[in-house]
Amino acid sequence: MATSHDVLVIGGGPGGYVAAIKAAQYGLNVGCIEMEKVLGGTCLRIGCIPSKGLLESTERLHQAQNEFADHGINVSSVKVDLAKMHARKDKTVGELARGIDELFRRSKITRYLGVGRFLSPSKVTVVGTGEEIQAKHVIIATGSKSATLPGIELDGERVGTSTEALNYPEVPKEMIVIGAGAIGLELGSVWQRLGAKVTVLEYLDRILPEMDDEIAASALRIFTKQGIIFKLGSRVTSAKKDGRRAIVTCDGAPPMSADRVLVSVGRTPNTEGLGLEVIGIETDKRGRIPTNEHFQTTVPGVYAIGDVIAGPMLAHKAEDEGAAVAEFIATGYGHVNYMAIPSVVYTSPEIASVGFTEKQLQEKEIPFKKGKFPFIANGRAKVLGDTSGMVKVLAHAETDRLLGVHIINNRAGDLIAEATAAIEFAATAEDVARTTHAHPTLPEAIKEAAMAVHNQAIHM
Ligand SMILES: Cc1cc2nc3c(=O)[nH]c(=O)nc-3n(C[C@H](O)[C@H](O)[C@H](O)COP(=O)(O)OP(=O)(O)OC[C@H]3O[C@@H](n4cnc5c(N)ncnc54)[C@H](O)[C@@H]3O)c2cc1C
Repeated sequence: MATSHDVLVIGGGPGGYVAAIKAAQYGLNVGCIEMEKVLGGTCLRIGCIPSKGLLESTERLHQAQNEFADHGINVSSVKVDLAKMHARKDKTVGELARGIDELFRRSKITRYLGVGRFLSPSKVTVVGTGEEIQAKHVIIATGSKSATLPGIELDGERVGTSTEALNYPEVPKEMIVIGAGAIGLELGSVWQRLGAKVTVLEYLDRILPEMDDEIAASALRIFTKQGIIFKLGSRVTSAKKDGRRAIVTCDGAPPMSADRVLVSVGRTPNTEGLGLEVIGIETDKRGRIPTNEHFQTTVPGVYAIGDVIAGPMLAHKAEDEGAAVAEFIATGYGHVNYMAIPSVVYTSPEIASVGFTEKQLQEKEIPFKKGKFPFIANGRAKVLGDTSGMVKVLAHAETDRLLGVHIINNRAGDLIAEATAAIEFAATAEDVARTTHAHPTLPEAIKEAAMAVHNQAIHM
């Protein structure tokens, strides 16, 4: 006999596990099928958390090698124990994964280990164990996997994805990163700080295509100064293992070789083996499951959230969709404000953004004013010894409502939270400018940039 649930979630990543917990909070009987032993999905196992672990460790290394002396702290010799660095990162992942297990246990969510496959819109089998699970509502939260390009031969060793780049057992002498998006730049930075000569090949004539042009151009200058080599406008035609090295070819350029190649050209939704064809769901041309604003697919009772649907492939976007879909199932309400989803690149400096870029506003013909404030004029940035970067605030030219905030600074990822809350609450630039900010803090630069929208910055 089939087990039965009010809600069955397929996929235990940030979208799926949050949807499961939230649905349980509404008193629903919830099951979750996850094919990996560890819950937490791409984000926890092979994404956000391990990459930030390595970024944190290597940033400390960089500081010890280059910045401590300025503070009068002399460290005679700094040595890297890469195995220990990896172990620390893995320990963090393990602890957080056990935390989700505990949350599931407390929420009385039934966990199924295996691949979920639809038998009908309300019945899913766990491939391998053969269990059949009946559910009134099924949420697809199967996430995404690394994309690749024609001509690239992933061998999982010399030519690999972010999953391999999180675990190189030794520091490559030379590393080629294909794709100058967030993942490529973060992991390129990690290995560059550890001593690799890193070359980034990017098809476009810029890095970080989703980010504000001016901020991305500023980031490019800073990363280049740090020693990362950028070859923009490079169309990669092949990459393959060549003995203990790899060879990469690009249109109109001599072949390049490196110890390791990281292919970071985006991610594709995970729908293979789900049996979507059995229930009549067709994916769009990018392989995503189409949904309406309530995350309902074309099949009644079947929903989809996270990386497997349209929108930015970000953990917090997946989480908020997970919470919203559970709320919708339980109450008939629940939505996500896509205007207020921040995006962060955790390089040094960090790059963070929320709302529209200048270019998007120009394309939409929305009149706007902008205010900028550089961290060089911020007292806390001076004390921290890190005055690079700026805040840019974009506000509607007539209503003054905040339309976008873009920050480049080592703590931009934390700073963007204030701007996100302001946009969520439909604040104006004046609201932010009139809000008291503690001194001396980095967020004062956001206040000053908001004042600069009306040419009223004090410290500039
Ligand atoms: C290196 C890297 C760094 C990243 N850094 C960040 C970051 O700093 N911040 C950020 O916001 N985002 C980051 N991301 C993106 C983030 O990881 C994803 O946006 C997020 O994990 C998407 O969540 P999800 O729940 O939709 O899918 P996923 O996290 O991909 O989870 C889907 C889960 O479904 C399971 N699954 C798939 N198919 C089935 C099936 N048929 N049956 C059962 N289980 C199945 C998978 O095993 C997986 O556990 C990063 C990604 C990578 C690769």
